[in-house]
Amino acid sequence: MPIHDLRVLVTEDDRLQRSIVVEMLRSLGLNAISEATNGEEALDMIRHANPPINILFCDLKMPKMDGMELLRHLGTEHFHVEVVILSAMDKKLLAVVNKVSSLYEIKLLGALEKPLSLQKLKHILSQSGNTPIAPAPKAAPQQFNFSVEEILEGIRQKQFKPFLQPKVDLQTGQVVGAEALARWLHPEHGIVSPYAFIPKLEESGQIDSLTYLMLEESASICRTLLGKNHALHIAANLSLVSLTDPLIAEKITSIVKAAGVDTKYITLEITESAAMTEAPQALENLARLYMNGFTLSIDDYGTGYSNLQQLTRIAFGELKIDQSFIHGFANNEAMLIVVAANIDMAHKLRIKSVAEGVETKEDWEMLRKMDCDIGQGYFFAKPMSTEDFYTFIDNYRNQLLEVSPTAVHHYIKTTTKTNSEFKILIVEDDEFTRNTILQILNSLGYLQTTAVKDAQSAIALFEEVQFNLIITDIFLPDINGLELIKRIRTDRTFAKPNTRIIVLSGLTQTKAVGLAMTLNVNGFLAKPLIPNVIDRKIKNVMSEPTRVQASIAYETINTDIQDILISKS
Ligand code: C2E
Ligand code: CA
Ligand code: CA
Repeated sequence: MPIHDLRVLVTEDDRLQRSIVVEMLRSLGLNAISEATNGEEALDMIRHANPPINILFCDLKMPKMDGMELLRHLGTEHFHVEVVILSAMDKKLLAVVNKVSSLYEIKLLGALEKPLSLQKLKHILSQSGNTPIAPAPKAAPQQFNFSVEEILEGIRQKQFKPFLQPKVDLQTGQVVGAEALARWLHPEHGIVSPYAFIPKLEESGQIDSLTYLMLEESASICRTLLGKNHALHIAANLSLVSLTDPLIAEKITSIVKAAGVDTKYITLEITESAAMTEAPQALENLARLYMNGFTLSIDDYGTGYSNLQQLTRIAFGELKIDQSFIHGFANNEAMLIVVAANIDMAHKLRIKSVAEGVETKEDWEMLRKMDCDIGQGYFFAKPMSTEDFYTFIDNYRNQLLEVSPTAVHHYIKTTTKTNSEFKILIVEDDEFTRNTILQILNSLGYLQTTAVKDAQSAIALFEEVQFNLIITDIFLPDINGLELIKRIRTDRTFAKPNTRIIVLSGLTQTKAVGLAMTLNVNGFLAKPLIPNVIDRKIKNVMSEPTRVQASIAYETINTDIQDILISKS
């Protein structure tokens, strides 16, 4: 839908604020703008709007019915309206709103801070599933209008080739695989993007011929790579349309087997919306593909409205967070929370998290800190021809080792340093968890490990011992873990302000995770605790140069997490 066709509703009790938003939307070319002064009025308008409202701009504090209540009504009445929060940026509040929205499967496009900026507004609108001004490349389809017959003829003549884009292990910097993206090497038009032919093929029910071609090529690339001693996973994209074909699973399996490749090297990416299908045939196909050894991946995650239950019906091995959430997310609190929640979700499902659209080093570093497993994006490489990919792989230098001389130094240093040299403090009130970590660390050879039950004991110990690393729980009986970290960061304890800190986080504590990130903690560990994950995490954390700001920068951070504590108990 073109941007000027978007139907928006601005709900804000302050007349001046409301008119500013309305004017800004007008200046961006939107025409269908309605206004409401409170939640009740807004709900009424949404209920009766025809055609429906696409985007709701909504203040949180309003008379009669506030923003939260409005969200709840939208959720329970299943309106698929996208929401933009208009509120002074209160991180805690935003985290709660985010949580509520995801519970009700409402798509939160973002929050607009005051003063409002046109650029931010534009960016937020670009996140809408209703507009094509979403980030490139989905934004910029080439202007071709091929007929299905022309496309099929091109496929018969094998003019379609996969371009490969590397997938990189964010923790180690190794290339672990590649996604095969279709390109039409058109004799006249050169390289044609998938947007010019995928939708046409899907709509006409003819996508299978391309799928088979791509799979054949992917499998043969995979075999060549294996021959060069590169055990890489190659991913191909599967359309929902194909999944309704009762024979597709067998066909895909036989194509891969015929190429002499073990199916475990092939990943099949299915978009989130396709993964939500109720069609028994599609579910059966996915189950069969899984049984045949393929890895199933949920593509474009975050753009649909799937819930955990829907996701667990299918044996996914990978969750790809949509690129619209990734690029530049480190500086956007709302996106940060969404990404944290998605990585969390993957951990919870015990599957790999993959971030698409990693465009900068900053994106990468943040994802790495947040324990995202794999990254894909222009920062590592753009999709490239098979030949270029082989050269790329042969010459690939692990960027992790090239980040900065200090990183290399630390990397080398820690790989030679023995675990027994680290002084580690564990702060955890739960006896079972505390003992588990102690035992694991002991078995890993971390011999200078101390454990305490609360923050006050930790603070007392800082006077005696300079710990290299503190692993702390968030929920502690006396001072919460975040406050403990704040005191360390603001120099109010004897611990060094740059002491490395790892937070033991629960699975859904996105708000606490967000706060911990603003306190520049060095890493997170989620339960269940797995020995080699812990070992790798500690090595990573110790090898990275810490980046802490001046103590004053942390003074104003509000570490009050009472509401999470309440919801926990
Ligand atoms: P996708 O599966 O989400 O693929 C990722 C798209 O993001 C690719 O666009 C890729 O070139 C682009 N991309 C990768 N890194 C970055 C980055 O850092 N920043 C930005 N802005 N974009 C990045 P591409 O190749 O144009 O493919 C578009 C879509 O077409 C794919 O989205 C996929 O849904 C579909 N597609 C491609 N090949 C096939 C295929 O063989 N079969 C089917 N069914 N669909 C395909
Ligand atoms: Ca894909
Ligand atoms: Ca994708």
